[in-house]
Amino acid sequence: MTTDEGRARLAEQLVALPVHELVDVLRRVLPHYTEDEPGLRTTLVLATATTDEDTPDVAELALVAWPDRNHHEGGLGADQGLWNEGDCATCAVTLTSNAKRGHCPVCGSGCGLT
Ligand SMILES: [Zn+2]
Repeated sequence: MTTDEGRARLAEQLVALPVHELVDVLRRVLPHYTEDEPGLRTTLVLATATTDEDTPDVAELALVAWPDRNHHEGGLGADQGLWNEGDCATCAVTLTSNAKRGHCPVCGSGCGLT
């Protein structure tokens, strides 16, 4: 347990990161909150929600794929926004990433994004 001030300091540190570094931090954190019950797994993931001004009540959701560090020579992928998109070939969720190669945050499969 930490204090409000401690969480505020942590939030300030996270806000200062470019998005590809924030994703790398959360890649190390969110999987620890996975809950397994008999026959059921719930995974905490990072996602984007995109709305169009013509249909503001409809959001398109995409889960943020974890960059494949082996493919990116140990790096985090491009220092850019989450512009690459694709679908997981295993569990079919819609994915987004700053990187061209990533891992699905739900099933862990390697995925190509364009
Ligand atoms: Zn998947």
